[in-house]
Amino acid sequence: MKTQRRNSRQRERIYVYRNIAILLEEGRIQGGEFGSGIVRYDAVTGSHYHFVCERCGTVSDFAMPARDDITAAARLFAPHHIAGHTIRFYGVCAACAAGDSAKSKKRR
Ligand SMILES: [Zn+2]
Repeated sequence: MKTQRRNSRQRERIYVYRNIAILLEEGRIQGGEFGSGIVRYDAVTGSHYHFVCERCGTVSDFAMPARDDITAAARLFAPHHIAGHTIRFYGVCAACAAGDSAKSKKRR
């Protein structure tokens, strides 16, 4: 019984990873490494920004309009066909700053 359950979970995991690979290949999601082996998959595929909380590790989209001038400026410095960019802002999230984040309490 345990073996069947384990095999079922392995098949589900393989199915999920295969679908993630397909979505990445089709450009319908973006994947990014955020340190410590954390990979985030994002359905927003245009240029946008992320905030990474250095205390609890939460990664969130950053609600700031993408700066197309940054992409244009990068094109002046690199011979590549640059299609977009992403920026990560680091700091302490509002929940951690207020001291009421369940995650931040766990890590202290
Ligand atoms: Zn935090």
